[in-house]
Amino acid sequence: MDRNMPEILIYHNEAQQYASHIQELGYKGILRIARTPEEAARHIEGAEVILGWNVPDSLLAAPEGQSVRWIQSTGAGIDNLANSPRVPAPVTLTRIVDQYGRVMAEYVLGYMLFHNKEMKRLLEAQQSRRWDGFRVDTLEGKIIGVAGLGSIGAEIVAKARAFHMQVYGLSRGTDKAPLVDRHFTSGEWTDFVKQLDYLVVALPLTQDTRYTVNQEVLAAMKPGACLINVGRGGLIDEKALIGQLQQRPELTAVLDVFDREPLDRDNPLWELPNVIITPHLSGPSRVPDVSRYFMANLDLYIQGLPLRGVVDRIRGY
Ligand code: NDP
Repeated sequence: MDRNMPEILIYHNEAQQYASHIQELGYKGILRIARTPEEAARHIEGAEVILGWNVPDSLLAAPEGQSVRWIQSTGAGIDNLANSPRVPAPVTLTRIVDQYGRVMAEYVLGYMLFHNKEMKRLLEAQQSRRWDGFRVDTLEGKIIGVAGLGSIGAEIVAKARAFHMQVYGLSRGTDKAPLVDRHFTSGEWTDFVKQLDYLVVALPLTQDTRYTVNQEVLAAMKPGACLINVGRGGLIDEKALIGQLQQRPELTAVLDVFDREPLDRDNPLWELPNVIITPHLSGPSRVPDVSRYFMANLDLYIQGLPLRGVVDRIRGY
């Protein structure tokens, strides 16, 4: 064991794979692994660093968790901890940055094409051996609005431009405004959405963004528009969304993330014909990539240098 290396707790359902990778990449300190909150509570004492996904904030509030100084999320979001008062202020939170944009932009473009080319209708016609000819639409000239112009939103913007779409964007500040044809800030949601053919939500979940896509915003969406949420379920008022989708069958929602995951079997969203549900897979975390990212950050941590992907606890992202 290398005593200069901080003790690490890995909290993940793929904890063993993470452990093998980071050991292969040179970690020689004390490593514990946990897959459930109960296992984590048993192993946390003495751990200085946690590498994990959805790490319960109760771990940090317990006396055994007082040794923790840094938590590295295995994903791009760490909202459950960033927004929690139970996580002591000196604990540094880091997330993965710059690894998801391209793959998530493919997801978004894939479902925009599915919607725009009416692929569901074509598949149904084929299944019933029906020659259902129609004039197929194009994404060219359609208006996409991307809410959240960070590492993920920026890649969605780039791919939308390749399809010659008009690109609107919404972010907290104005420094990302040059990325888009028209820029909006958080006080301008209804103006932002009213002309959009596609609304893509790629925001972090913070105290400011929770349920930001509310009844008023949804009602302002233009007829036939398509909403794609790849950010977090809590960004959208789910009850209001279900109501709008029921009242306005011409709207479509493509949802990768939900307030409660996995989505309850009795959730009305499953039944709605104008909804596409995917199980939080638009931005996959790959164990080798995350392990490399973590080990590079661990190197900085040991040297006392600033880490990559630090979450601003005041902003919440
Ligand atoms: P970034 O931090 O790079 O970007 C966040 C963007 O959101 C910024 O443009 C920021 O504005 C904007 N923003 C933040 N708060 C507000 C607000 N109150 N009003 C308007 N805009 C706001 O994040 P990423 O692009 O890396 O990731 C975004 C989110 O995507 C993650 O937090 C995660 O929840 C989700 N995600 C989902 C995955 C999945 O599998 N579905 C996988 C990976 C990520 P500004 O530019 O002014 O700072």
